[in-house]
Amino acid sequence: MPAKWDIVLKGVAASSGISIGKVFSLEDDDFCVIRREILRSARETEKKRLARAVEKTRTEFKIVYAKIDEVLGKNYARIADAYLLILDDPTMKKEVYELIDSGVNAEYAVFKVIDKIARSFEFIENDYIRERKVDIQDIGRKIIENLLGKHRKTLANLEEDSIVVSHNLTPADTMTIREKLVKGFATDIGGKTSHTAIIAQGLSIPAVVGLKVVSSQTKSGDIIIIDGNKGEVILSPTPETMVKYKREYALQFAKRRELEKLKNLSSETTDNHKVLIFANIDNSDEIESILSNGAMGIGLYRTEFIYFNRGETMPTEKDHFENYSKVAKIMSPYPTVIRTFDLGGDKLTKMGLLNVEQEKNPSLGLRAIRLSLKYPEIFIDQLRGVLRASAYGEIRLMYPMISGIEELYEANKVLNKVKQDLKKEHMEFDEKMKIGVMIEVPSAATIIDVIAKEVDFVSIGTNDLIQYTLAVDRVNENVAGLYDPLHPAILRFIKKIIDESHKVGITVSMCGEMAGNPYYAPVLLGFGLDQFSVSSAQILEIKKVIRGISFEDAKKISEEILKCGSRDSILEIINTIHVK
Ligand code: PEP
Ligand code: MG
Repeated sequence: MPAKWDIVLKGVAASSGISIGKVFSLEDDDFCVIRREILRSARETEKKRLARAVEKTRTEFKIVYAKIDEVLGKNYARIADAYLLILDDPTMKKEVYELIDSGVNAEYAVFKVIDKIARSFEFIENDYIRERKVDIQDIGRKIIENLLGKHRKTLANLEEDSIVVSHNLTPADTMTIREKLVKGFATDIGGKTSHTAIIAQGLSIPAVVGLKVVSSQTKSGDIIIIDGNKGEVILSPTPETMVKYKREYALQFAKRRELEKLKNLSSETTDNHKVLIFANIDNSDEIESILSNGAMGIGLYRTEFIYFNRGETMPTEKDHFENYSKVAKIMSPYPTVIRTFDLGGDKLTKMGLLNVEQEKNPSLGLRAIRLSLKYPEIFIDQLRGVLRASAYGEIRLMYPMISGIEELYEANKVLNKVKQDLKKEHMEFDEKMKIGVMIEVPSAATIIDVIAKEVDFVSIGTNDLIQYTLAVDRVNENVAGLYDPLHPAILRFIKKIIDESHKVGITVSMCGEMAGNPYYAPVLLGFGLDQFSVSSAQILEIKKVIRGISFEDAKKISEEILKCGSRDSILEIINTIHVK
């Protein structure tokens, strides 16, 4: 019988797109852990049984590592690497052994210790680290499975197109993934930085996570809809909803096909004004996707990823060099803008990498270039890696969060010293490597005339520029309504940055999210922006807008917009823009 009403579960939109299909549930066969008394004489045997199960788990995770490496690349494989580190944790081992010594079976001891560790994660403020709780639980589950000789279903059991539903999707699950058959993911737990989200985005598969009850409310064979744009999953959809989503799916597909036709066309306006469309990437595995969407370069390589998922060790100069030289080679002859790390002191402290006091306002604290200058040894390793990689393709260097000219001078001083050292060591690098800064702090935007004279390019980081100019925390949902790229103050800043930079002959890029929104593109174009740096999925959408409007019209619109003092009057003008 057709459903009379939809059951809609709301979660976190982890990977965009729509998918309609049959559920493949990984939770159909669960197991429980029973407490058994172990005689004193049998405790050593119990420990040996545990050691064998741990070894088996280790071998399995090594296979996971190799498999993820093969499908998604090294950076993703590090997720599995972190598992191996947890598996070797001496405190965990000691506590499990103590419980066995107190007279309980190994399965129960592992369960108790893992549960205790997992609970302690709940109080951690940092989302990324808190979510690692599920990794700990997954490790426990794997060891227990190996102790019981019982395994739950895996993605290798997939035989037809399916939407994978699970309490949590772990790296161990992805080991057996058959990508072509997976059309969507829905999980009970996880946030934007959970593994499911990272993996789903990497594979461009729609996903919604953090749905709390999806695994208990569905079974294999059910037909569900994943709306990865809204972060919703519709269980037992009504025929009307089905029709609506099928139409949306068809539109999404057709739109993508249309956009793909633009891939090899130039990004120029109808009156032949050319701009460049570059891509933002978070890790090198995204390069294939940005090139297939026609990116002419990387306008922002956020290098923070290199610092994550590696336990308590900092990346070495070699790690940096290997990563950036690989990117430079693949991207050549297109340029790559490498942004030096924009980490907050709090992140590194929580990862056990720095001993900095917890800050009350991390976004106003020891972050990005401030951290680099305070801990030059970390900065130098990265600069050496970047410079050495510059011998392999066109690399440009960019400093984040510059707030005054002195910071730029200081950073360049460190860079020049690194260059001298490399010369002495007869290491090759590009002596003319271009140096730029992100303009994302209002003080830097205000003195752009001073900064522009000292750099080869600037890139406007609207994500932070809006946050700091409007005093609106960019991750606080309570003030999300005030976070406004069209605030006259923001638009005037952007125009000023572009005009002052052009006066001294340097190019201006924008790498904040604002650059990837097709609605704003005509305005930015009219302001004279030279380069849009956007995420892979937005490249062709922005190109479509650029190709559908004349530069002359865009300039006229932008001039009108600059005269406006309110958002409403700006919106009124934008809504009249016609793009072919
Ligand atoms: C920005 O602030 O606009 C930017 C691109 O940097 P991030 O989002 O990494 O802070
Ligand atoms: Mg920023």
